[in-house]
Amino acid sequence: MDGANVPTMAPVLILLGPPGAGKGTQARMLQEAHGFVQLSTGDLLRAAVAAGTDAGKEAKAVMEAGGLVSDEIVIAILKDRLADPDCATGVILDGFPRTTGQAEALDTLLADTGQQINAAISLEVDDAAMVARISGRFTCGGCGEGYHDVNKPTRVLGICDKCGSSHMKRRADDNAETVGERLSAYHAQTAPLIAYYEGKGVLQSLDAMGDIKTIATTLSGMVRNAVG
Ligand code: AMP
Repeated sequence: MDGANVPTMAPVLILLGPPGAGKGTQARMLQEAHGFVQLSTGDLLRAAVAAGTDAGKEAKAVMEAGGLVSDEIVIAILKDRLADPDCATGVILDGFPRTTGQAEALDTLLADTGQQINAAISLEVDDAAMVARISGRFTCGGCGEGYHDVNKPTRVLGICDKCGSSHMKRRADDNAETVGERLSAYHAQTAPLIAYYEGKGVLQSLDAMGDIKTIATTLSGMVRNAVG
């Protein structure tokens, strides 16, 4: 990474958890509450797929199958994004790292710029509930606000509470078969990161099965303590 472009000591927070745990929703709320930038590698990859870049072309089939995109592609995409000036206020990593290789690459990136991980927060959920959570979710195409058919519907059917757009999107990989693959990938490749961050003394965990606002309040307190 070009260290000159990266802010020194901007807080770095990681949200860990399986697909459907609420990482994206909570990261967005933390972004609003604390001013940190949500960095979702899933969003960055979907943008690359939509733009038809080489990385996007390579990632597309893997994402549709619910597998993990190669470390090489994901690390390169994240590295570029981290160098953007808006990351100077601090970042919340949502969906990254997902493998030990990515976690080690992140350590190297941060060491190069004198930064460190303030906290890796694991959102603890029951696997069995994740399929229902994921299959009901949708997002506003205008502002990116996340919703759920049951847990967080829009106040007016089909209209975004935040920006008034009626353009709602559902992800192609939010279907029952792909979700099964995504959960398997999480357990095989990402869950070991819980021990990885515990070993570094930055792991925190919270029960993420409750309602969104209660979780957000707890998480916000954890973040406040972690960034000092
Ligand atoms: P997400 O939006 O975080 O659920 O990610 C959607 C999909 O993008 C995943 O199922 C993976 O195929 C891919 N993806 C996102 N982040 C990563 C990552 N850090 N490493 C590998 N693949 C990723």
